[in-house]
Amino acid sequence: MSARLIDGKALAAQVRAQVAQDVATLKAAGTTPGLAVVLVGGDPASQVYVRNKAAACEKAGMHSQVIRLAETTTQSELLDVINTLNHDATVHGILVQLPLPGHLDSALVIEAISPNKDVDGFHAINAGLLMTGAPRFRPCTPYGIMKMLESEGVSLWGANVVIVGASNIVGKPMAMLALAAGATVTLCNSKTRDLASHTQRADVLVVATGRPGIVTGDMVKPGATVIDVGINRNADGKLVGDVDFESARQVAGAITPVPGGVGPMTIAMLLMNTLQAAQRLSPTAAAQTEQ
Ligand code: NDP
Repeated sequence: MSARLIDGKALAAQVRAQVAQDVATLKAAGTTPGLAVVLVGGDPASQVYVRNKAAACEKAGMHSQVIRLAETTTQSELLDVINTLNHDATVHGILVQLPLPGHLDSALVIEAISPNKDVDGFHAINAGLLMTGAPRFRPCTPYGIMKMLESEGVSLWGANVVIVGASNIVGKPMAMLALAAGATVTLCNSKTRDLASHTQRADVLVVATGRPGIVTGDMVKPGATVIDVGINRNADGKLVGDVDFESARQVAGAITPVPGGVGPMTIAMLLMNTLQAAQRLSPTAAAQTEQ
């Protein structure tokens, strides 16, 4: 058996087209959604991500602003930049590209972003809202995974969802979203004993560790849906996920490829979050709330 491929690129294109339509409506009502991306230092991978995010914004008709700061930027200089963006009415979403250089405190920086403009959904207030079942911004990668599952017709109600990797940006928010959708969730980390005994029970298996090949076909339940979040470069410089694709696709019912799976969805959901931020912050929305 060979698994059905889940085409994240095609689904992302659909989401982006829908966002572009809604952006046009909002613009006609006088608000152009705007995203500000702050990049500190010259990390090559971050530069590519930031360029892609800005280009995607512009393609959707949004305003995008990239603020490039020197590697030597101090904590207080960075906080000043964020404070200015928090008060800029043309900016509806603020994203600080991670990882930051080692001398900067990412947690403090994230907490400085206005929770109403935190389109990554990493602020403690937004993480708390997600945990209590009233999400404002869903972190983009798990949000994209939920969209993919929905579009594939995979119901999480009563399903065993096993997530390998428990980071604040992928694993933990994925667990919250799956739980809210009615799943029984297992969240694994580097200390988990006998990882295969957990993954083999998964109706839906989400892998986000940054460890290429950590999940092989023998660890997958026959017919399961496998979502590979990992982005790694192998010895030949080729992009690979965390799942050993060739062996897993023989067993799974459906699987995401790398590239072309989760990655494009992450950017599409960033646009969606920025649009929703602008819808909430626009004067028309404010007027409607007051009525
Ligand atoms: P982190 O490094 O922040 O977290 C990795 C998680 O994996 C940790 O919880 C860690 O456990 C766990 N882990 C590590 N080794 C093992 C192991 N042997 N068994 C089980 N769990 C393990 O990574 P991120 O969440 O930021 O990213 C994960 C991957 O996803 C990376 O490849 C990244 O590039 C990719 N990514 C892709 C995105 C996309 O859009 N496609 C978006 C974001 C990330 P512990 O908590 O114990 O340390």
